[in-house]
Amino acid sequence: MNIMGLADKKEALIKSLRKEGCLKSPGVIRAFMEIPREGFVRPEDRPWAYSDHPLHIGSGQTISAPHMVGIMTSLLEPEKTDRVLEIGAGSGYQAAILSRLVERVYTVELEKELADLARRNLKRAGIGNVRVVHGDGSLGLQEHAPYDKIMVTCATDRLYPAWKEQLREGGILLAPVGSGYHQELTLAVKRKGGFRTKHVLSCVFVPLRH
Ligand code: SAH
Repeated sequence: MNIMGLADKKEALIKSLRKEGCLKSPGVIRAFMEIPREGFVRPEDRPWAYSDHPLHIGSGQTISAPHMVGIMTSLLEPEKTDRVLEIGAGSGYQAAILSRLVERVYTVELEKELADLARRNLKRAGIGNVRVVHGDGSLGLQEHAPYDKIMVTCATDRLYPAWKEQLREGGILLAPVGSGYHQELTLAVKRKGGFRTKHVLSCVFVPLRH
């Protein structure tokens, strides 16, 4: 019988993600240790909070698998002075991980219930440098632009002009680009007003909606 407690399961997950190369820098590893994923999943799913899977969070949406959060966080090259925009707050977990690594996170969520859920989860975790905004993230968030980094956590068929405009020169945009059940995680760096893009890996995210 599996009688491991959550703390042991968390340690085992972090160890295996490190081994797989999904968690590399000491900062990202520390953020994973500090943030309680069990506080961002549905109460009935807490026993599975440290299995490496996406889980349902309501409104037909999911919290991403820990390995994907690790990979995307690392690709964003978070710096202490960064102001980051996330599109798709969902449970608030990805924003919580980023909050430990950067100065400020703004996260936009289309579904009102999920924006409220993310706010509650972040508050309970004692996180004060994340602002959750209810709205359509394809428009970015003009109010606090420019951003050093933008992370999109829903599948998008294109890189919206607002994201390019609201990113600083040299800033990084990370987004799953594609539709249906296949997207390419795309890393774009803003250079001379344009994007220099590269595909990192194939992935599956819930779609961006309007
Ligand atoms: N980052 C989240 C998981 C995101 S799931 C976490 O850590 O839990 C993708 C989210 O994108 C869903 O919550 C969905 O409602 C949201 N979404 C879809 N279209 C959107 C849009 N146009 N603007 C903002 N959020 C959107």
